[in-house]
Amino acid sequence: MKLSRYDYIIVGSGAGGGVLAFHLARAGKRVLMLEAGQRWQPRDYPDNELDASARLMWSGGVEPSQDASLMLMRGRTLGGGTVINQCLLDRFDDIALDDWAARSGLDSFSETAMGRHYDAVEADLSLQSIPESDWNGNARIYADGFDRLGYRRAPLRRGQSRCDVAGGNDCMRCLGGCPRASKQSTAATFLPRAEELGLEIITGCHIHGVVHGSAGVTVYGQVGREQVQFFAARCVLAAGTLGSSRILMNSGLGDALPALGKGFFCHPQFVTFARYAEPVDAHRGSFQALKSDDPRFRAAGFKLENVFMGPVAAAYLLPGGARAHQRLMRDYRHLACIEVAVRDVTPGRLSLSRGGQLRIHKSLGAPERKRAREGLKIIRDIYRVTGATEVAQAPTGIGLHLMGGCAQGLHRDSSVVNPEFAVHGMPRLHVVDGSLFPSAPGINPSLTIMALAHRAAEALLGGAQAPAGISRSVPADAAEVSA
Ligand SMILES: Cc1cc2nc3c(=O)[nH]c(=O)nc-3n(C[C@H](O)[C@H](O)[C@H](O)COP(=O)(O)OP(=O)(O)OC[C@H]3O[C@@H](n4cnc5c(N)ncnc54)[C@H](O)[C@@H]3O)c2cc1C
Repeated sequence: MKLSRYDYIIVGSGAGGGVLAFHLARAGKRVLMLEAGQRWQPRDYPDNELDASARLMWSGGVEPSQDASLMLMRGRTLGGGTVINQCLLDRFDDIALDDWAARSGLDSFSETAMGRHYDAVEADLSLQSIPESDWNGNARIYADGFDRLGYRRAPLRRGQSRCDVAGGNDCMRCLGGCPRASKQSTAATFLPRAEELGLEIITGCHIHGVVHGSAGVTVYGQVGREQVQFFAARCVLAAGTLGSSRILMNSGLGDALPALGKGFFCHPQFVTFARYAEPVDAHRGSFQALKSDDPRFRAAGFKLENVFMGPVAAAYLLPGGARAHQRLMRDYRHLACIEVAVRDVTPGRLSLSRGGQLRIHKSLGAPERKRAREGLKIIRDIYRVTGATEVAQAPTGIGLHLMGGCAQGLHRDSSVVNPEFAVHGMPRLHVVDGSLFPSAPGINPSLTIMALAHRAAEALLGGAQAPAGISRSVPADAAEVSA
């Protein structure tokens, strides 16, 4: 058993934990980060989808909702979800933030109040969009369909610094960890710099629970088979929606926190493939280049994503029995893909089984089904006007944006975390990750999680040592930098 004392312990190293760790370390605090996943050097990330799922994600890749209608994914590696995500970084609009303000009672949820936190995080990241010259066949079909049908589209904004190193955004390995250290995961940006400033990191450390005391917080878990225990003046849970909710529930805090585990959202996504007579080669070049930017879609509660996937994910999501499925897989080069992502309004719930297993209660309500249907109809229209010969819809929904469970707000009956990012009634225990979200924004969440972490750093440091930016430049050979 280990017992050490720190100013801060941060559990989890993803979008929230990574940004917060940097700012606390920069303010001279003694910070320990505990992460269940492993540390990888960029060049060592798995080079195939199956290994990447098994080694970089929880539960080997997917975690089903209780009714198995949705397959959820989350990262388990140093850098968390930022290592396995697409790194599309969008600010929230007032449609999302006004809803948060109304639910939480916090006027800090507005475009104006969030602005300087977005500014600060963006200044520390390299942001690029994919030039039209680098679009692949899938992006061209998406753009052509939007233009013919009169819908508005826009370029995506990605956190990346040198995806075009060999000419033309030619790499599709983003979801399995970026071998070029180009994608702006916290493992490639905030964490190495925080370590230079003294951040200590223990990977392979699974935290089970916390005990809040009058002098600080005790954190307990295990590294391999060894039980470990740490002590800090303050503890910040940044273990993501499922992780932080589970740690609080497992710590026996469910009765004290009636809103714990409630208000779980995930932007359910439904993928539709289409077959074309000519090769599309959607697997070549930039994985994603465009997004829907049509106010009618936003008002209707969905967006259309220009996505594709590797052969394993495609095999998982393509419909049909043996022969039909095999035929589609054989035509892999001829497949295009678009998905509808729904802004969900029917809250799910997280709970623990008697044996301590996480249960994810999340079903599609009537509003989500309607939004999905509307989006899927437009996707079919896009395929029709662009000459697809066959359309194939995935049989299951997926959830990549896991949000809520420890909502931030004024009142204990409807929220878990107060405006200072402390758990209600526990001034030394904090939460800083996507679990804070009071509802689903309908927009990519990670930039806002980072912006909230920047705001949390200010709250924790009492404003006196307000966080400043890190250097914008990426190391000459980031692959050699200890991440
Ligand atoms: C395939 C995919 C694509 C995505 N694409 C995008 C995108 O393009 N844009 C976007 O904005 N978002 C995207 N997302 C979502 C985004 O990555 C997440 O919303 C974001 O990373 C969540 O940040 P977080 O800080 O809440 O948690 P995470 O980033 O998930 O970090 C939590 C960390 O805590 C660790 N942890 C959990 N439990 C414990 C425990 N008990 N003990 C120790 N450590 C623990 C985890 O291993 C993890 O490293 C995508 C997600 C996926 C899966």
